[in-house]
Amino acid sequence: MADDRAEAIARFIAPLRVEPGSRVDLARDFDPRYRAHLKKRDGAELLRTGVELLAEYQDRLAAQDTYGVLLCLQALDAGGKDGTIRHVMSGVNPQGVKVSSFKVPSSEELDHDYLWRYNLRLPGRGEIGIFNRSHYEEVLVVRVHPENLERQRLPEAARGPDVWKRRYRDINRWERHLTDNGFKVVKVFLNLSREEQRIRFLKRIDLPEKNWKFSAADVRERRFWDDYQLAFSEMLSATSTEWAPWYVVPADRKWFARICAAAVLVHTLAGIDPQYPTVGAEARKQLRLVRRDLEDEAPPGAEADPYEAEHGKGKKRKKKGSR
Ligand code: AMP
Ligand code: MG
Repeated sequence: MADDRAEAIARFIAPLRVEPGSRVDLARDFDPRYRAHLKKRDGAELLRTGVELLAEYQDRLAAQDTYGVLLCLQALDAGGKDGTIRHVMSGVNPQGVKVSSFKVPSSEELDHDYLWRYNLRLPGRGEIGIFNRSHYEEVLVVRVHPENLERQRLPEAARGPDVWKRRYRDINRWERHLTDNGFKVVKVFLNLSREEQRIRFLKRIDLPEKNWKFSAADVRERRFWDDYQLAFSEMLSATSTEWAPWYVVPADRKWFARICAAAVLVHTLAGIDPQYPTVGAEARKQLRLVRRDLEDEAPPGAEADPYEAEHGKGKKRKKKGSR
Protein backbone atom coordinates (compact mmCIF):
# COMPACT_ATOMS: atom_id res chain seq x y z
CA MET A 1 0.00 0.00 0.00
CA ALA A 2 1.21 3.49 -0.74
CA ASP A 3 2.80 4.97 2.38
CA ASP A 4 0.55 8.03 2.35
CA ARG A 5 -2.56 5.85 2.48
CA ALA A 6 -1.11 3.86 5.38
CA GLU A 7 -0.29 7.09 7.19
CA ALA A 8 -3.75 8.54 6.59
CA ILE A 9 -5.31 5.42 8.10
CA ALA A 10 -2.97 5.50 11.08
CA ARG A 11 -3.89 9.16 11.71
CA PHE A 12 -7.59 8.41 11.34
CA ILE A 13 -7.64 5.70 13.99
CA ALA A 14 -5.12 7.28 16.39
CA PRO A 15 -7.82 9.06 18.48
CA LEU A 16 -9.60 5.73 18.97
CA ARG A 17 -6.60 3.89 20.35
CA VAL A 18 -6.38 3.27 24.07
CA GLU A 19 -2.85 4.24 25.07
CA PRO A 20 -1.24 1.33 26.93
CA GLY A 21 -1.00 2.15 30.60
CA SER A 22 -3.59 4.94 30.49
CA ARG A 23 -6.60 4.98 32.82
CA VAL A 24 -9.79 4.95 30.80
CA ASP A 25 -13.04 6.49 31.95
CA LEU A 26 -15.34 5.66 29.04
CA ALA A 27 -17.86 8.44 29.60
CA ARG A 28 -15.12 11.05 29.93
CA ASP A 29 -12.70 9.86 27.25
CA PHE A 30 -14.79 8.52 24.36
CA ASP A 31 -17.82 10.03 22.66
CA PRO A 32 -20.12 7.45 20.99
CA ARG A 33 -21.20 10.13 18.48
CA TYR A 34 -17.72 11.21 17.32
CA ARG A 35 -17.38 11.09 13.53
CA ALA A 36 -14.12 12.87 12.71
CA HIS A 37 -16.02 15.56 10.74
CA LEU A 38 -17.06 12.98 8.17
CA LYS A 39 -20.47 13.06 6.50
CA LYS A 40 -22.50 9.93 5.90
CA ARG A 41 -22.33 10.48 2.16
CA ASP A 42 -18.49 10.24 2.24
CA GLY A 43 -18.83 7.08 4.26
CA ALA A 44 -19.77 4.65 1.50
CA GLU A 45 -16.73 5.52 -0.60
CA LEU A 46 -14.36 5.26 2.36
CA LEU A 47 -15.76 1.90 3.40
CA ARG A 48 -15.38 0.65 -0.18
CA THR A 49 -11.72 1.65 -0.14
CA GLY A 50 -11.23 -0.08 3.21
CA VAL A 51 -12.89 -3.26 1.99
CA GLU A 52 -10.75 -3.27 -1.16
CA LEU A 53 -7.55 -2.84 0.82
CA LEU A 54 -8.60 -5.64 3.14
CA ALA A 55 -9.16 -8.01 0.24
CA GLU A 56 -5.72 -7.18 -1.13
CA TYR A 57 -3.99 -7.69 2.19
CA GLN A 58 -5.88 -10.86 2.95
CA ASP A 59 -4.75 -12.39 -0.32
CA ARG A 60 -1.13 -11.65 0.58
CA LEU A 61 -1.57 -12.84 4.15
CA ALA A 62 -2.91 -16.18 2.89
CA ALA A 63 -0.18 -16.53 0.26
CA GLN A 64 2.60 -15.81 2.74
CA ASP A 65 1.06 -18.26 5.24
CA THR A 66 3.23 -17.10 8.12
CA TYR A 67 1.10 -14.68 10.13
CA GLY A 68 -2.48 -14.72 11.32
CA VAL A 69 -4.70 -11.92 12.61
CA LEU A 70 -7.27 -12.07 15.38
CA LEU A 71 -9.84 -9.29 15.64
CA CYS A 72 -11.84 -9.32 18.88
CA LEU A 73 -15.13 -7.47 18.71
CA GLN A 74 -16.87 -6.44 21.89
CA ALA A 75 -19.98 -4.33 22.40
CA LEU A 76 -23.06 -4.01 24.51
CA ASP A 77 -26.26 -5.47 23.04
CA ALA A 78 -27.31 -3.75 19.80
CA GLY A 79 -23.82 -2.29 19.49
CA GLY A 80 -23.61 -3.43 15.86
CA LYS A 81 -21.16 -6.34 15.93
CA ASP A 82 -23.01 -8.48 13.38
CA GLY A 83 -23.51 -5.66 10.88
CA THR A 84 -19.89 -4.58 11.26
CA ILE A 85 -18.65 -8.07 10.45
CA ARG A 86 -21.00 -8.36 7.48
CA HIS A 87 -19.94 -5.04 5.95
CA VAL A 88 -16.25 -5.02 6.76
CA MET A 89 -15.62 -8.57 5.56
CA SER A 90 -17.89 -8.27 2.50
CA GLY A 91 -15.00 -8.18 0.03
CA VAL A 92 -12.70 -10.83 1.41
CA ASN A 93 -12.30 -14.42 0.35
CA PRO A 94 -14.43 -16.49 2.76
CA GLN A 95 -11.77 -19.21 2.74
CA GLY A 96 -9.38 -16.93 4.57
CA VAL A 97 -11.73 -15.74 7.31
CA LYS A 98 -12.99 -17.57 10.34
CA VAL A 99 -15.74 -15.94 12.38
CA SER A 100 -16.54 -17.36 15.81
CA SER A 101 -19.39 -16.21 18.04
CA PHE A 102 -19.24 -16.86 21.75
CA LYS A 103 -22.42 -17.40 23.75
CA VAL A 104 -23.15 -18.55 27.28
CA PRO A 105 -20.58 -21.33 27.83
CA SER A 106 -21.72 -24.94 27.45
CA SER A 107 -21.17 -27.50 30.19
CA GLU A 108 -18.25 -28.91 28.23
CA GLU A 109 -16.69 -25.46 28.01
CA LEU A 110 -17.26 -24.89 31.73
CA ASP A 111 -15.36 -28.10 32.35
CA HIS A 112 -12.14 -26.42 31.20
CA ASP A 113 -10.11 -23.36 32.11
CA TYR A 114 -11.78 -20.15 30.98
CA LEU A 115 -9.48 -19.54 27.98
CA TRP A 116 -9.91 -23.04 26.56
CA ARG A 117 -12.83 -22.40 24.24
CA TYR A 118 -11.17 -19.30 22.76
CA ASN A 119 -7.99 -21.24 22.06
CA LEU A 120 -9.97 -23.75 20.04
CA ARG A 121 -11.23 -21.08 17.65
CA LEU A 122 -8.02 -19.17 16.95
CA PRO A 123 -7.18 -18.42 13.31
CA GLY A 124 -4.45 -20.40 11.62
CA ARG A 125 -1.49 -18.92 9.75
CA GLY A 126 -2.65 -16.96 6.73
CA GLU A 127 -6.11 -16.49 8.23
CA ILE A 128 -8.07 -13.61 9.70
CA GLY A 129 -10.07 -14.72 12.73
CA ILE A 130 -12.92 -12.67 14.09
CA PHE A 131 -14.23 -13.19 17.57
CA ASN A 132 -17.82 -11.97 17.83
CA ARG A 133 -17.60 -11.54 21.61
CA SER A 134 -14.39 -12.99 22.95
CA HIS A 135 -12.35 -13.95 25.98
CA TYR A 136 -13.10 -10.43 27.22
CA GLU A 137 -16.56 -11.64 28.27
CA GLU A 138 -14.64 -13.39 31.04
CA VAL A 139 -13.94 -10.01 32.66
CA LEU A 140 -17.18 -8.30 31.54
CA VAL A 141 -20.42 -10.31 31.78
CA VAL A 142 -18.75 -12.70 34.21
CA ARG A 143 -17.78 -9.76 36.39
CA VAL A 144 -21.10 -7.94 36.20
CA HIS A 145 -22.95 -11.18 37.01
CA PRO A 146 -20.82 -13.14 39.49
CA GLU A 147 -23.09 -16.20 39.23
CA ASN A 148 -21.22 -16.87 35.96
CA LEU A 149 -18.04 -17.19 37.96
CA GLU A 150 -19.76 -19.64 40.31
CA ARG A 151 -20.60 -21.85 37.34
CA GLN A 152 -16.92 -22.04 36.44
CA ARG A 153 -16.27 -24.16 39.55
CA LEU A 154 -12.90 -22.59 40.25
CA PRO A 155 -10.67 -23.82 43.06
CA GLU A 156 -10.45 -21.51 46.05
CA ALA A 157 -7.04 -20.13 45.03
CA ALA A 158 -8.39 -18.91 41.66
CA ARG A 159 -11.18 -16.81 43.22
CA GLY A 160 -10.99 -13.94 45.62
CA PRO A 161 -11.13 -10.20 45.08
CA ASP A 162 -8.08 -10.06 42.80
CA VAL A 163 -9.56 -12.53 40.31
CA TRP A 164 -10.07 -9.77 37.68
CA LYS A 165 -6.55 -8.47 38.04
CA ARG A 166 -5.23 -11.99 37.54
CA ARG A 167 -7.45 -12.48 34.51
CA TYR A 168 -6.18 -9.24 32.95
CA ARG A 169 -2.66 -10.51 33.49
CA ASP A 170 -3.48 -13.96 32.03
CA ILE A 171 -5.11 -12.37 29.00
CA ASN A 172 -2.21 -9.98 28.37
CA ARG A 173 0.26 -12.85 28.58
CA TRP A 174 -1.82 -15.09 26.35
CA GLU A 175 -2.08 -12.35 23.72
CA ARG A 176 1.64 -11.72 24.03
CA HIS A 177 2.34 -15.38 23.44
CA LEU A 178 0.13 -15.36 20.33
CA THR A 179 1.79 -12.20 19.02
CA ASP A 180 5.28 -13.60 19.55
CA ASN A 181 4.30 -16.65 17.55
CA GLY A 182 2.95 -14.80 14.53
CA PHE A 183 -0.64 -14.05 15.49
CA LYS A 184 -1.39 -10.37 15.72
CA VAL A 185 -4.24 -9.56 18.09
CA VAL A 186 -6.31 -6.39 17.76
CA LYS A 187 -9.37 -5.44 19.75
CA VAL A 188 -12.35 -3.23 18.90
CA PHE A 189 -14.96 -2.05 21.35
CA LEU A 190 -18.08 -0.66 19.67
CA ASN A 191 -19.01 2.13 22.05
CA LEU A 192 -22.75 2.73 22.00
CA SER A 193 -24.64 5.37 23.98
CA ARG A 194 -27.47 4.39 26.27
CA GLU A 195 -29.95 6.43 24.26
CA GLU A 196 -28.92 4.89 20.93
CA GLN A 197 -29.30 1.42 22.46
CA ARG A 198 -32.84 2.33 23.53
CA ILE A 199 -33.65 3.46 19.97
CA ARG A 200 -32.22 0.28 18.44
CA PHE A 201 -34.16 -1.96 20.82
CA LEU A 202 -37.37 -0.14 19.90
CA LYS A 203 -36.60 -0.63 16.22
CA ARG A 204 -36.21 -4.36 16.86
CA ILE A 205 -39.70 -4.35 18.32
CA ASP A 206 -41.22 -2.12 15.63
CA LEU A 207 -39.92 -3.97 12.57
CA PRO A 208 -41.23 -7.54 12.20
CA GLU A 209 -38.09 -8.66 10.36
CA LYS A 210 -36.03 -7.48 13.34
CA ASN A 211 -38.19 -9.13 16.02
CA TRP A 212 -36.00 -12.22 16.12
CA LYS A 213 -33.08 -10.06 17.24
CA PHE A 214 -35.01 -8.69 20.17
CA SER A 215 -34.59 -10.33 23.52
CA ALA A 216 -36.26 -9.24 26.73
CA ALA A 217 -33.08 -10.35 28.50
CA ASP A 218 -31.15 -7.64 26.62
CA VAL A 219 -33.48 -5.02 28.03
CA ARG A 220 -33.02 -6.41 31.54
CA GLU A 221 -29.27 -6.21 30.96
CA ARG A 222 -29.69 -2.47 30.37
CA ARG A 223 -30.28 -2.04 34.10
CA PHE A 224 -26.64 -2.96 34.58
CA TRP A 225 -25.47 -0.19 32.27
CA ASP A 226 -23.28 1.55 34.86
CA ASP A 227 -21.72 -1.71 36.01
CA TYR A 228 -20.80 -2.50 32.41
CA GLN A 229 -19.35 0.96 31.80
CA LEU A 230 -17.13 0.46 34.83
CA ALA A 231 -16.14 -3.09 33.84
CA PHE A 232 -15.33 -1.88 30.30
CA SER A 233 -13.33 1.10 31.57
CA GLU A 234 -11.20 -1.08 33.87
CA MET A 235 -10.75 -3.78 31.27
CA LEU A 236 -9.65 -1.23 28.63
CA SER A 237 -7.19 0.34 31.08
CA ALA A 238 -5.66 -3.00 32.00
CA THR A 239 -5.51 -4.82 28.66
CA SER A 240 -4.61 -2.29 25.98
CA THR A 241 -1.00 -3.23 25.31
CA GLU A 242 1.64 -2.31 22.76
CA TRP A 243 1.30 -5.77 21.25
CA ALA A 244 -2.51 -6.01 21.36
CA PRO A 245 -4.12 -2.56 21.53
CA TRP A 246 -7.75 -1.68 22.10
CA TYR A 247 -9.61 0.72 19.84
CA VAL A 248 -12.78 2.33 21.15
CA VAL A 249 -14.95 2.84 18.09
CA PRO A 250 -17.82 5.34 18.28
CA ALA A 251 -20.85 3.19 17.50
CA ASP A 252 -23.89 5.48 17.48
CA ARG A 253 -23.53 5.90 13.73
CA LYS A 254 -23.30 2.49 12.13
CA TRP A 255 -21.71 3.77 8.92
CA PHE A 256 -18.91 5.43 10.88
CA ALA A 257 -18.32 2.42 13.13
CA ARG A 258 -17.86 0.20 10.06
CA ILE A 259 -15.27 2.53 8.53
CA CYS A 260 -13.37 2.59 11.81
CA ALA A 261 -13.41 -1.20 12.20
CA ALA A 262 -12.21 -1.64 8.61
CA ALA A 263 -9.47 0.95 9.19
CA VAL A 264 -8.26 -0.81 12.35
CA LEU A 265 -8.04 -4.11 10.50
CA VAL A 266 -6.27 -2.55 7.48
CA HIS A 267 -3.84 -0.81 9.83
CA THR A 268 -3.07 -4.12 11.56
CA LEU A 269 -2.46 -5.88 8.25
CA ALA A 270 -0.32 -2.98 7.03
CA GLY A 271 1.82 -3.51 10.14
CA ILE A 272 2.42 -7.09 9.06
CA ASP A 273 2.82 -6.07 5.40
CA PRO A 274 2.52 -9.64 4.11
CA GLN A 275 4.29 -10.42 0.84
CA TYR A 276 3.66 -12.91 -1.91
CA PRO A 277 6.34 -15.60 -1.76
CA THR A 278 8.89 -15.34 -4.57
CA VAL A 279 10.78 -18.24 -6.07
CA GLY A 280 14.53 -18.53 -6.39
CA ALA A 281 16.65 -18.80 -9.55
CA GLU A 282 16.64 -22.61 -9.55
CA ALA A 283 12.86 -22.84 -9.18
CA ARG A 284 12.39 -20.24 -11.96
CA LYS A 285 14.54 -22.34 -14.26
CA GLN A 286 12.31 -25.33 -13.50
CA LEU A 287 9.24 -23.24 -14.29
CA ARG A 288 10.68 -22.30 -17.69
CA LEU A 289 11.34 -25.94 -18.51
CA VAL A 290 7.84 -26.99 -17.56
CA ARG A 291 6.43 -24.12 -19.58
CA ARG A 292 8.23 -25.33 -22.68
CA ASP A 293 6.73 -28.80 -22.24
CA LEU A 294 3.24 -27.35 -21.79
CA GLU A 295 3.66 -25.14 -24.84
CA ASP A 296 4.66 -28.15 -26.90
CA GLU A 297 1.41 -29.79 -25.94
CA ALA A 298 -0.67 -27.04 -27.59
CA PRO A 299 -3.21 -28.57 -30.00
CA PRO A 300 -2.98 -27.66 -33.70
CA GLY A 301 -3.71 -24.01 -34.35
CA ALA A 302 -3.78 -23.06 -30.70
CA GLU A 303 -1.60 -20.45 -29.05
CA ALA A 304 1.37 -22.04 -27.36
CA ASP A 305 0.70 -19.89 -24.27
CA PRO A 306 -2.70 -18.17 -24.50
CA TYR A 307 -2.08 -16.05 -21.40
CA GLU A 308 1.17 -14.70 -22.69
CA ALA A 309 -0.38 -14.20 -26.13
CA GLU A 310 -2.94 -11.90 -24.59
CA HIS A 311 -0.81 -10.13 -22.02
CA GLY A 312 2.77 -10.42 -23.17
CA LYS A 313 4.72 -11.00 -26.33
CA GLY A 314 2.80 -13.93 -27.77
CA LYS A 315 4.18 -16.36 -30.26
CA LYS A 316 1.98 -18.69 -32.16
CA ARG A 317 3.62 -22.05 -32.57
CA LYS A 318 2.27 -24.41 -35.10
CA LYS A 319 2.64 -27.98 -34.03
CA LYS A 320 4.24 -30.46 -36.34
CA GLY A 321 1.69 -32.09 -38.61
CA SER A 322 -0.81 -29.31 -38.16
CA ARG A 323 -0.68 -28.00 -41.72
P1 AMP B 1 -25.76 -12.90 21.54
O1 AMP B 1 -24.43 -12.29 21.25
O2 AMP B 1 -26.89 -11.92 21.47
O3 AMP B 1 -26.01 -14.14 20.77
O4 AMP B 1 -25.74 -13.32 23.09
C1 AMP B 1 -24.77 -14.13 23.61
C2 AMP B 1 -24.94 -14.10 25.12
O5 AMP B 1 -23.92 -14.90 25.68
C3 AMP B 1 -24.79 -12.72 25.72
O6 AMP B 1 -25.84 -12.44 26.57
C4 AMP B 1 -23.48 -12.81 26.49
O7 AMP B 1 -23.49 -12.03 27.65
C5 AMP B 1 -23.40 -14.28 26.82
N1 AMP B 1 -22.03 -14.71 27.03
C6 AMP B 1 -21.00 -14.67 26.16
N2 AMP B 1 -19.86 -15.12 26.73
C7 AMP B 1 -20.18 -15.45 28.00
C8 AMP B 1 -19.43 -15.97 29.09
N3 AMP B 1 -18.13 -16.24 28.99
N4 AMP B 1 -20.08 -16.18 30.26
C9 AMP B 1 -21.40 -15.92 30.37
N5 AMP B 1 -22.15 -15.43 29.38
C10 AMP B 1 -21.56 -15.20 28.20
MG1 MG C 1 -28.20 -10.61 21.94
